[in-house]
Amino acid sequence: MLAGMTTPPHQASNSFVIQDVRIFDGTRVTGTGSVLVVDGRIAEIGRVTAPPGTPEYDGRGKTVLPGLIDGHTHSPWGKPDADRRDALRLGVTTELDMQGDPELIAGAKRQRESLERTDQADLWSAGIGITVPGGAPPEYPNLPNPPKLDAGADPGRFVADRIGEGSDYLKIFFEDGSVFGQPMPTLTPGQLHAIVAAAHRHGRMAIAHVTELEHARTAVEAGIDGLAHMLLTTADETFVEAIRKSGAFVTTTLSSFDRGLGADELLADPRVLPYLSAEQFDALKYRDSPGDSGWLRVGSRNVARLHAAGVPIFAGSDAGVGAGSQGAHGATLLAELTHLVRAGLTPAQALTAATAAPARRYRLTDRGRVAPGLRADLLLVEGNPAEDITAVREIAVIWKNGYPIDRRVGT
Ligand SMILES: [Zn+2]
Repeated sequence: MLAGMTTPPHQASNSFVIQDVRIFDGTRVTGTGSVLVVDGRIAEIGRVTAPPGTPEYDGRGKTVLPGLIDGHTHSPWGKPDADRRDALRLGVTTELDMQGDPELIAGAKRQRESLERTDQADLWSAGIGITVPGGAPPEYPNLPNPPKLDAGADPGRFVADRIGEGSDYLKIFFEDGSVFGQPMPTLTPGQLHAIVAAAHRHGRMAIAHVTELEHARTAVEAGIDGLAHMLLTTADETFVEAIRKSGAFVTTTLSSFDRGLGADELLADPRVLPYLSAEQFDALKYRDSPGDSGWLRVGSRNVARLHAAGVPIFAGSDAGVGAGSQGAHGATLLAELTHLVRAGLTPAQALTAATAAPARRYRLTDRGRVAPGLRADLLLVEGNPAEDITAVREIAVIWKNGYPIDRRVGT
């Protein structure tokens, strides 16, 4: 337990009240008041009347905010339950997977509809991402080799198969490796257009992995709904205008291009370190390549430019890319929020990029805001993260479905 935080009141049910707390509603601090949660949902905000016997938390000096949404994670074939426990222990209550095991989707859908007690973040998933043989992402030894879109195969059929597996949206790898100096085959523009059109016929969003400008241009022309990474080459005026007009969002994942800067800061932070599992610790220590010192700078400048133009910016960690991945579920999103503020977002805008903004776009209507009727996925943190973004690391209590989470590792 953190110094200064008294032991939370005994809370056996998913009803409680936080008194006199600063409220960040998903877009801004609305003031100080109380938040009443009844049976896992936010019931009243402001001056509330709690039923007798309701467990009470003292919110003075603290801020309540929505549980965080990580807009880019992976739940690969392997240890998905552990990953989502790791995420929740660091304040991420919802993960948006961008290529993962489709076998997880049915269970994930049941969990995210439920208000039962859980020790895992909820999951939305792209399931199997769409790529060509030999294309990105690399295959990992000891993991299943998901199907690829062969030359001449019907993209519409491939999309339909993913929908059949339960994919909530489609993830497309449009990457020729040029930014990384590792040439690789990728989809043709024609295939890309056909995939996006098929996704839209099924009423699903299509989200593209791109890392450089020309691919991003082509993806926007194809009608993409969002980009899964910030570009690592400079976004020019024509592109900024094109993506703004298209309405597409960009999920940033600056942490995966920062040469370990964010990870080093997390590992040195006593507000984070005690809550890391061995897997999270190893992921933060892992360095797959020195990378390019320009990536974070260019990516951050693109964030500023696109944000100023009104392009929706979502925070994403790219955690859990595979065996020996850089990026820890939960923890890396905290580093990403700091990167967004350094790029020029206000702390409140950075928090919105991990709460209300992605919730709205992905139509996660029961979460992402502190508002009556919503699921009580909430964080209580010391201080005011709308002024100092790192305050979001000083977590007093995490609630999932209204139940407090035991943050001890290995419980
Ligand atoms: Zn990824």
